[in-house]
Amino acid sequence: MSLSAFTQPGSFWRGNLHTHSNLSDGCLDPAEVCRRYKAEGYDFIALTDHFIGIYKYPLLDTSEFRSEGFTTLLGAELHSGAMENGELWHILAVGLPADFAPSNSPAFVPVEDQETGPEIAARARDAGAFVTVAHPHWSGMTLADARSITAAHAVEIYNHGSEMGCDRGGGAHVLDLLLSEGRDLTLIATDDAHFTEPDHFGGWVMVKAPENDPDALLDALKNGAFYSTQGPELRILTVDKKAVHVDCTSAVSVIVQGHGSGARAVHGHSMTRASVPLDRFYNSPWLRVTVLDASGKRAWSNPFPNPSF
Ligand SMILES: [Zn+2]
Ligand SMILES: [Zn+2]
Repeated sequence: MSLSAFTQPGSFWRGNLHTHSNLSDGCLDPAEVCRRYKAEGYDFIALTDHFIGIYKYPLLDTSEFRSEGFTTLLGAELHSGAMENGELWHILAVGLPADFAPSNSPAFVPVEDQETGPEIAARARDAGAFVTVAHPHWSGMTLADARSITAAHAVEIYNHGSEMGCDRGGGAHVLDLLLSEGRDLTLIATDDAHFTEPDHFGGWVMVKAPENDPDALLDALKNGAFYSTQGPELRILTVDKKAVHVDCTSAVSVIVQGHGSGARAVHGHSMTRASVPLDRFYNSPWLRVTVLDASGKRAWSNPFPNPSF
C-alpha cells in the first residue's frame, strides 16, 4: 500500500493485463492481438488465455511478439476449485513461467480432486506471478470468496468486458471491504478482451518502471507502482495530514475514498489540480483516489496509508 507510482523514478508504461486469443475463447490469434494493442499505443500486454483442458492449458511464450516499443508478459487466467456459488474460480496470473504446471481443470465447471482457488492462486504467486482476483461482480463472488484468496496482490476494480457484456464490470465493493480488513491490496483495470464484442481498449494500467522491460514491469506491479484508468491520467499524487493533492488531466470530479462511508469529492470544470480535505477520514487507515472526466471515464489510484489516521 503506497504512492510509489508517484514517488519512484521512471516512466509510465501503458498495458493491458487481461487478454484472450484464439488459443482459448478469443477470436483473434496472438499475433493479431499484439498487433492491435501496439497499434493502439499500448507499451505492453499480457496474453492470459483460459488455462483449462479443453484448450490444452495454453500458456504461450509471447516473447516472439515483442518489438521496438512493445513488450509482453507471460500469463494465464487460472481456473480451479469452486466459489460459494458453485462456479469455477477465475484468477488472473501475470508473470508466470512458461512451464507452469497445468491444473486439473478439464473445462469451465469444478471437478473433484482439483486445487482450490486459494491453492492455485498461491501456486501462481510462488511461481513468480502477479496474482489478481478477476471480475468479482461478474463472477457473483462473495466477500468470503474474495477473502480466501490470500495470495492475491490485487483485485480488478474494472473489467471492461464484464462492463460491456454484462453491466457487471466493477470490483470496488469487495476491494474496499478487504482493505478495511487490513489486506494490503492494489487494484487494476483491465480489458478481458476476447474481441468478440466491444470489450477492448477500455481499461488499462499505467506502470511506473525504469524501462519497458518485462521484469521491470512485473516488479513494479508487485510493488504497487502503477495506477489504473479508462482514459484520465494521474500525474502527481501526494498526501499530507490535511489533504490529498492530485494533478491530473482535465477532470470534473476528484474523489477520495476510505473505510466505511468515508468519502469526499471536489467537483469543478476542467480541473487539472485539486486538493481533497481529509476531515472525513478520521477512522480510515487507508485511502484511495478516483478521478472522473467530463465523458464519465475514470482513473483510480492504488490504496495508500492515511497520514491523518
Ligand atoms: Zn474470467
Ligand atoms: Zn478473462
